[in-house]
Amino acid sequence: MHHFDYQNQQLHAEEVAVAAIAEAVGTPFYLYSTATLTQHFKAFDNAFGDLPHVTCFATKACSNIAILRLFASLGGGADIVSGGELFRALKAGIDPQRIVYSGVGKTEAELAAALKAGILLFNVESEQELDALARVAASLGVTAPVSFRINPDVDPKTHAYISTGLAKNKFGIAIDQALAVYQRAAAMDNIEVKGVSCHIGSQLTQVGPFVESLRKVKAFLARLAEAGIAISHLDLGGGLGITYNAEAPPHPEAYAAALKEEMAGLKCTLILEPGRVIVGNAGILVSRVLYTKTNVAKKFVIVDAGMNDLARPSLYGAYHAILPVNQQRQDKVVADVVGPICETGDFLARDAEVPACEAGDLLAVMSAGAYGFTMSSNYNSRTKVPEVLVRGDAFHVIRQRETLDDLVRGETIPEFLR
Ligand SMILES: *Cc1c(COP(=O)(O)O)cnc(C)c1O
Repeated sequence: MHHFDYQNQQLHAEEVAVAAIAEAVGTPFYLYSTATLTQHFKAFDNAFGDLPHVTCFATKACSNIAILRLFASLGGGADIVSGGELFRALKAGIDPQRIVYSGVGKTEAELAAALKAGILLFNVESEQELDALARVAASLGVTAPVSFRINPDVDPKTHAYISTGLAKNKFGIAIDQALAVYQRAAAMDNIEVKGVSCHIGSQLTQVGPFVESLRKVKAFLARLAEAGIAISHLDLGGGLGITYNAEAPPHPEAYAAALKEEMAGLKCTLILEPGRVIVGNAGILVSRVLYTKTNVAKKFVIVDAGMNDLARPSLYGAYHAILPVNQQRQDKVVADVVGPICETGDFLARDAEVPACEAGDLLAVMSAGAYGFTMSSNYNSRTKVPEVLVRGDAFHVIRQRETLDDLVRGETIPEFLR
């Protein structure tokens, strides 16, 4: 469900014509719907309604502080993976006691910042990270709340780059080695063992792997209990998929029901880290056609957005539907929709059925709200595009288009070249 629909053959975000926003802010730009974001957050969070739980939005999926603030206003927390995301989450007004910190490579400076902020949990991914955390906590005279990320060795049946819970992946601590780590941590000063966490991957379209991993974690919890280690928080990560094309992922209700069934009898606060499922279909990338051409047998639609603006097609071969902003463009052609970047891998769609468009037309790249803007870069010295948030009949620029001066900010020519 989302709020990008045609009214009088013009694509609208809620009550605002997408073309009118393009007129005001230029192209390309990311566009989000407050109603969709709100609806998706609530559908997910309410699905766990009666269980004690915290929905910690996975900041890396869409990290604009306006969007984080919206989730904070709905009672959400944040799953962060860097000091930069900590900064954003705090700036957005997210309660530190609703922030969990994941990731394999936290630096001591990042650990210190999160300790000072007083976050809910560190999801620790290695013994050396535990030692670093204990050291930093001691130097600050505080105790670090810790959960270890367990790698359950479960196949999430998704793209290899976003599978994280297989034994061969870099994430977490192998479930067979984890008990010893817990025992060591439990005896350490400045460390308070509170939780167990896992996150097996992204864009999962079945509940099976989630359940399989929860069963392994439950067996592990039993071993911890035997060892006298009590756990108050169970973090099941994120990863629920969305429909980009023909995928049929479980509804959050079904996902929650499956987890709740497995959780029966466990007295833990559940932590969830959804990212994509909340924001993926709540955002689009709007781009303008620059040129069209046919080379030998292939048609190309050249647009003003490239792989630096939306990396997913190039990085994962990901599919994004591309719709005309003006629905009167009803004819379809099979073409590649490509950007201006000097890379053959620079495409938004390949051999896809796309609107038969002309230079000047606006196109909407759908389902771009997750891992869209956050993965964008300045490659080819392109300025990062604006982010716009619609609410009802009004729109708000929540991040301005970068300027050319932004592009070279911080760069200097050393004395010897002057
Ligand atoms: C990326 C990530 C998430 C969010 O994944 P989605 O597929 O966007 O829900 C949650 N937890 C951790 C630890 C992550 O790295």
